[in-house]
Amino acid sequence: MPFDKDAIRLALTRVQHPALKADIVAAGAVQKIAYCDGFASVKLAGANLHADQRRGLEQQAVAAIRLLAQQSGAELADVHVEITSDVPTPPAPGHRPIPIAPRETDPANPLPDVRHIIAVGAGKGGVGKSTVAVNLAVGLARRGHSVGLMDGDIYGPSLPTMLGLSAFETSVRGNMLQPFLVHGIKAMTIGKLVDPEKPLIWRGPMAHGAFKQLVEQTEWCGGGELDYLVIDLPPGTGDVSLTMAQMLKLTGAVVVCTPQRVAQDDAVRAARMFQQLGIEILGVVENMSWFVGDDGKEYDLFGRGGAQLMAQRLGLSFLGAVPINTALRENSDTGNPTHNFTDTSPRNRPLVQALETLTTNLENQAALASMRMGASAPKLSIS
Ligand code: ADP
Repeated sequence: MPFDKDAIRLALTRVQHPALKADIVAAGAVQKIAYCDGFASVKLAGANLHADQRRGLEQQAVAAIRLLAQQSGAELADVHVEITSDVPTPPAPGHRPIPIAPRETDPANPLPDVRHIIAVGAGKGGVGKSTVAVNLAVGLARRGHSVGLMDGDIYGPSLPTMLGLSAFETSVRGNMLQPFLVHGIKAMTIGKLVDPEKPLIWRGPMAHGAFKQLVEQTEWCGGGELDYLVIDLPPGTGDVSLTMAQMLKLTGAVVVCTPQRVAQDDAVRAARMFQQLGIEILGVVENMSWFVGDDGKEYDLFGRGGAQLMAQRLGLSFLGAVPINTALRENSDTGNPTHNFTDTSPRNRPLVQALETLTTNLENQAALASMRMGASAPKLSIS
């Protein structure tokens, strides 16, 4: 895991501002971050803080940076924190972090009761990443697993529509957001916390903060356990994936791709990003693989098999292909993914089969990945 200025900024999101109801990054108190060869230097705006608060802030900032360096395996020779008398300048108004008090979590493992965390990514938008994430989550839940689905696509959240959340009210209990219980899963999305008509413009640190809140301040487990948490990532290779990799211990990632060559090129970049972030790729999904016409014939529109070949070329597993299906699009638009699995009409059969195959392959790949990570190793105790 690279330890750099972004990592230091992330570490600073874990430090609460002594006077404002926000972490110091969201509060706009971080003025400068520099890092070179094990030497970190940070300047924080500390107007109106008294001496004790300044000292506390300095100590917490140093501790947070050192802890993240240790977790990233980086050697840190020195950390210098300067507190200036400047006034913090919070980011431009628009989408501030959700105004609830932050919760203390173990930074090394903020979700200890989740067995498998699986990210769903894609090289670019519109290839069906959210569709696949939703249907994998619902498919896993239909197999009896307890499943959470988090909309990590904070720039363009799709879950409010795809899960039919428009009539649901957001609810906060204590300082925890209550996930929406729909289609047998627990879901949370930034789309229900912001004005749906406003553009979602997040600067780097705000994106970190929003993602972090969705992870840490959603009551994913409620005292129990979750077998799977599926995270729908933003398309491409940006900030949010970096935050996720630094915050969470993932079982692995799924890369969604359409068959065309241009889509494959982007998907290769997404796959390389996961690899660079140290996230195992559980497999590739080829979406919009083929089309079944009214005549019952299968039509190859985009070059069926292209994503599968790409997976082979990169030495990645192939989880399966999903056909272009009007019902799939309609069920997404009307927020009823369960119908993808329960529609028993002959026309829907290829879709059901495709989704069942995907789910089975994902279950198997996640189990294998966990074994490789040592999570499933039997514990031997001798008394
Ligand atoms: P992304 O998350 O990659 O931006 P979405 O999952 O939002 O893509 O899908 C984009 C649009 O394509 C949505 O309207 C969705 O319903 C539709 N869609 C995705 N996959 C399929 C498919 N296999 N058949 C028909 N429509 C699909």
